[in-house]
Amino acid sequence: MTDTDIQQSLATAHHRMEMALVSAGRDPQGARLLAVSKTKPACMLREAWQHGQREFGENYVQEALGKQAELADLEGIIWHFIGPLQSNKSRDVAEHFDWVHSVDRIRLARRLNSQRPDSLAPLNVCIQVNVSGEGSKSGIALDALIPLAEQVLALPRLRLRGLMAIPAPAETLDAQRQPLAALHSAFIKLKKRFPDAPLDTLSMGMSSDLEAAIIEGSTLVRLGTAIFGARDNYSGASQ
Ligand SMILES: *Cc1c(COP(=O)(O)O)cnc(C)c1O
Repeated sequence: MTDTDIQQSLATAHHRMEMALVSAGRDPQGARLLAVSKTKPACMLREAWQHGQREFGENYVQEALGKQAELADLEGIIWHFIGPLQSNKSRDVAEHFDWVHSVDRIRLARRLNSQRPDSLAPLNVCIQVNVSGEGSKSGIALDALIPLAEQVLALPRLRLRGLMAIPAPAETLDAQRQPLAALHSAFIKLKKRFPDAPLDTLSMGMSSDLEAAIIEGSTLVRLGTAIFGARDNYSGASQ
């Protein structure tokens, strides 16, 4: 993709988001765009940054650390870790990211909490929930959410900001909305149960279900293909 393509696809993505927000009767600024840059080279992130994009989502620790080093001169960049996180990689994430969307077990949360450097602000986290049942491997079951949230909220170096899900792909808008609606209602329950917690983030919606996610209350959409084009088979991406 050329520089102009990235500028154009960012503009198109913002337009899609605004249209969806307005037609859902929501604040047109009610959702932010997270640019998912896994497998994409640092130069493409730099271009997106030059066109105003600040938040980037990465899935692979080693790949992300390399890009962070290359892009250390960019001001205001915010790094989100959104992939499955093995415990033995948690220190790198605690030290080099601003957000983690894929917290799905207390052991991982405790490690991140103890490894988060005191010199940095608390690590923002979302709990990843499995809203599609058997079909998907990542995320905790809905009925385990409240106990996990309670434990995460007790960790001083983490800030529990909300929930994340990756629903199984579905063809129609209605089919896409079902699991997203389940996550939305879990989020509402969570906020009722913990009214003093800083819960403001519903991380859902990807390139193919952005509209459904916005109807269901997403505050942070994670777009990869729609911004950077189809992913390459990037061998360096494995960890
Ligand atoms: C890759 C990825 C995305 C982006 O998916 P696209 O379909 O390319 O928009 C979003 N969220 C997570 C967790 C991902 O791994």
